[in-house]
Amino acid sequence: MIFAEVIVDISVKSLDRTFQYRIPEEWEEEAVVGAQVVIPFGKGNRQMKGFIIGLSNACKFDLEKTKSILSIEKQGVIAESHLLSLAYWIKEQYGSTMNDAIKAVMPVRREVREKVERTAHVLVSRDALEALRQDYLQRHYVAKARFCDAFLQEDAFEAGLSCGELAKKWKVSGSVLKGLEDQGVVQVSSVRSYRNPLDGVRMADHSLPQRNGGEMALASFGRVELNPRQREIVEDFAEEYAKGIRGQYLIHGVTGSGKTEVYMGMIEEVLGLGKQVIVLIPEIALTFQTVNRFYERFGDMVSIMHSRLSAGERYDQFKRAKEGLIQIMIGPRSALFAPFRNLGLIVMDEEHESGYQSDSMPRYHAREVAVQRGKMLGASVVFGSATPSLEAYYRASSGEYKLYSMTERAGNARLPEVSIVDLRQEFAARNYSVFSRELQEKMEERLGRREQMILFINRRGYAGFVSCRTCGEVIQCDCCSVAMKPHEYRGKVSLLKCHYCGRERRMPETCPACGSRYIGTFGLGTQQVEEMVRKRFPTARVLRMDADTTSGKEGHSRILGAFSRGEADVLVGTQMIVKGHDFPKVTLVGVLAADLSLYAGDYRGAEKTFQLLTQAAGRAGRGERPGQVVFQTYQPEHYSITSAAEEDYIGFYRQELKVRQMLHYPPISHILEVLVSSESQERGEALAEAFSSNLGDVQGVVILGPADAGIAKLKNSYRKVLYIKSGNEQVLRDIAARGEEFLHGGGWKDCTVTFSFD
Ligand code: ADP
Ligand code: ZN
Ligand code: ZN
Repeated sequence: MIFAEVIVDISVKSLDRTFQYRIPEEWEEEAVVGAQVVIPFGKGNRQMKGFIIGLSNACKFDLEKTKSILSIEKQGVIAESHLLSLAYWIKEQYGSTMNDAIKAVMPVRREVREKVERTAHVLVSRDALEALRQDYLQRHYVAKARFCDAFLQEDAFEAGLSCGELAKKWKVSGSVLKGLEDQGVVQVSSVRSYRNPLDGVRMADHSLPQRNGGEMALASFGRVELNPRQREIVEDFAEEYAKGIRGQYLIHGVTGSGKTEVYMGMIEEVLGLGKQVIVLIPEIALTFQTVNRFYERFGDMVSIMHSRLSAGERYDQFKRAKEGLIQIMIGPRSALFAPFRNLGLIVMDEEHESGYQSDSMPRYHAREVAVQRGKMLGASVVFGSATPSLEAYYRASSGEYKLYSMTERAGNARLPEVSIVDLRQEFAARNYSVFSRELQEKMEERLGRREQMILFINRRGYAGFVSCRTCGEVIQCDCCSVAMKPHEYRGKVSLLKCHYCGRERRMPETCPACGSRYIGTFGLGTQQVEEMVRKRFPTARVLRMDADTTSGKEGHSRILGAFSRGEADVLVGTQMIVKGHDFPKVTLVGVLAADLSLYAGDYRGAEKTFQLLTQAAGRAGRGERPGQVVFQTYQPEHYSITSAAEEDYIGFYRQELKVRQMLHYPPISHILEVLVSSESQERGEALAEAFSSNLGDVQGVVILGPADAGIAKLKNSYRKVLYIKSGNEQVLRDIAARGEEFLHGGGWKDCTVTFSFD
């Protein structure tokens, strides 16, 4: 008798263990590790789904009382065993249930009906077909005559026609075709066809050379000659790889330094050894442009996987990966779990992007999971960024990752010239417009020369803060070095709160630094800016890109496409326009309020600002003509702004690391966020307080809060946070585990708690 260890499809911590079931004889063959099953569960024997994660032939409890599996899900995708091990690691590392972790590593869990391509071939000669046509016409068999017309076209006679096209274009129905098949005029064959999301890419670019017979020629086109630095890096990597070294690498290369070409060089090496590759890119950078570059180079070996694909498309890409029909999978974080059998390399572009951290349970970071999957399967991992996260660079400095630096732009392009405009001086000179005098002048020049420009509004994580328009002072918490958040009372800002430690203060009437009365909240919308451009430059053609204008499947590519075809002079947008796009005709980038993201209300404010500004500046001057960039700011001396202007990552890194050290933030120290949410404000507060006092005996930690979360109320739930800092990560993991136990104790069913590290 065989028994299955089953993880039940419920994400409740108290049920986060395996349950043993008997496998009835009829299911013995299909009941493999990784299979999805239907089981009776609990006292009422409710039908539930689950995953088999182990098999045994010993019964753990009373054989009489052990229930049997009801059935195996026929359409359930079977989880590969190494993905189950990875799920276990994720569960342990991020404190989720095994059920949630399995779901995370299996972005595709159900089979979707196969698509079958039916093709018709004529069996008679061209002359015979012509004769048949005459005959059909005489006898008024018009559909059959159309059938002959269809096949008498040039290619169709030789290559055949798809039944779909016959029906749609030639109005030859299935029954007519069946009749002709019975007469021996035509033969219909069926082949499994995979839905291919890249069909659009192929059709969109007619300049692509045709490859013959679907043969996978390695890198036959779309190649540039690597410059010496690029070649050095690829060769070093290839040498280590050939020696069997599998490790982690960080490519730190300024914008436009040709990192993508380096990835492609590395990928080619790894493919040459018969291995497969995953390329991770942030969701918003997953544009036609990026995918096309890989497609041009590697052709049909490439596929993509992302959330905008249909279920059928997604399943087919999964299947093609599993069957070894493709060798490179490109996509955002979930592509990390592509079921390749022979994975050799994971590339993670724009490593610093926050989209790599999952926003639902388990809150894993793709950087860590990529390293773990790489270790499990013997694959190397390559991270790349112009602005690496502090975590990644810290590891590179300590030797954990091997560091490759690229300090110059590839080809002939030069880094743009950046100027910093002090908005306090604009205010003093009575220029109350959102465009500084310098920016206006430069915009006018571009319009005169018919060059393009991008205006960028830095709203990432912007949650409102209070600042002085005269001197730029921002009211910050004395203890946490983050901006205090304004709280409105009867339409007026009356109170400021720190969302880290909960400290409060009254809204001051005058600036505490300079005494000015011009103090208040700061806000700037894309729509407003678009209107102001139209007003100030009536002849300019303006496009706006933000969450409102990009809804729908093709929203992003429609706007970016129009802009790259030169259908507009000015592109106004939020951070989604600064990522990875290559617009050679853009010679001016204006950042309207560079410091907005400094006060996002978390410890990464300076890092995010530096990253966004560097990326934004990197959009200018990517073509032949040199680029100029204007940063408008109230904090012209802030190191995140000055180092971004000089594209000085190392300078920024050193300064920021000091701040993190001083305030015990990652990567020097570690931080655990405990987020409590509840529909009852009192209950949520009580739980957060209970948590905090329960930690009284733990040594060597700093506890901040409870305080209101950055978003204090969401979907009718009140949210409280507690931050716990420690130099020892394990201490924080133990605290989280203890917290879970405390919750199991019961009595807090009306509250939800999530734990997030760093
Ligand atoms: P990154 O990913 O670092 O921003 P890309 O790989 O996108 O850089 O390269 C930036 C631009 O430089 C692209 O237009 C690319 O085609 C070009 N480029 C990259 N490497 C070379 C090279 N060795 N010679 C000429 N042009 C190059
Ligand atoms: Zn002031
Ligand atoms: Zn504080």
